[in-house]
Amino acid sequence: MTTKRGRVLAGGTDLFLWLKSGKADVDVLVDVSAIEALRTIDVRDDQVVFGAAVTHAEVAAHREIKALFPALADGCRSVGSPQIRNVATLGGNIVSAQPAADSVVPFVALDAQCEIASSSGTRVVPLEELYEGVGKSRVDATKEIITKIIVKRPDGPSANAYSRISPREAMSLPVVNAASLIVTDGKVIVEARIVTAPVATTPFRAKRAEAFLVGKNPSSLGDLAEAASIAQDEARPRDSLVRGSGEYRKILVKDLVEMTLYRAAERLG
Ligand SMILES: Cc1cc2nc3c(=O)[nH]c(=O)nc-3n(C[C@H](O)[C@H](O)[C@H](O)COP(=O)(O)OP(=O)(O)OC[C@H]3O[C@@H](n4cnc5c(N)ncnc54)[C@H](O)[C@@H]3O)c2cc1C
Repeated sequence: MTTKRGRVLAGGTDLFLWLKSGKADVDVLVDVSAIEALRTIDVRDDQVVFGAAVTHAEVAAHREIKALFPALADGCRSVGSPQIRNVATLGGNIVSAQPAADSVVPFVALDAQCEIASSSGTRVVPLEELYEGVGKSRVDATKEIITKIIVKRPDGPSANAYSRISPREAMSLPVVNAASLIVTDGKVIVEARIVTAPVATTPFRAKRAEAFLVGKNPSSLGDLAEAASIAQDEARPRDSLVRGSGEYRKILVKDLVEMTLYRAAERLG
């Protein structure tokens, strides 16, 4: 008897296109989209646990997520069209491994962790470590399944924001997107996470800009603007026929990072 090659199927918005074009080839599709345990959003005191088969539409419409993680709700709201958002899932967005995936960029800013299950057990890995390259995930969907995405609620006062530039509102790829998280001790910034894409083969963390912000007052607009300039300096967007020149997109990186930092600072009050 020959072994059947199986693969996880969720919303199918990416996978069916790959099957049609021959980019993927399987004998058996394992549809996980109706498994109840993968379909819940559990808001706890210390963390929020997202089932991997939760759709972008469900995240975008979730009242508590909009309040706690507006960056994620806004990212999910900008995916594709209502039809796509109603079926496309968080797990699929992660495993498809596009650097500018609209839920992944905010998830990386929020330091999300993924629980991955296989026949040999369960492991928890930071989402940002799951990218091997453009379209290449370290999760092997023929043997493994992402079950949960876990986001810890920061200890101190914190805020986050997401922004995206695309040619039109719906059904278009981001030219550039960005997400920022600011955590404070009530006075100064103790942690910042700044993510922008597609400016590298993975969602790109502007780590020099993040380090610059530590110890700064979140209401200092000059420091937030300086951090955005540092992020612009760090980012290396390439020329793209569909997205525009690298030079143009580098300018957008500064604008979007600045916008997300201002918005997050504003949300901190
Ligand atoms: C017209 C159109 C517009 C789009 N617009 C956007 C956009 O604006 N922004 C954006 O980010 N994306 C966009 N996408 C891409 C796509 O919709 C997303 O990547 C979506 O989140 C994929 O989720 P899915 O549930 O459909 O995944 P599927 O197509 O079911 O699966 C995708 C991959 O992930 C694997 N997989 C799925 N779930 C799991 C799991 N739990 N564990 C392990 N492996 C898993 C599958 O085996 C497959 O390899 C668009 C797609 C289309 C067709």
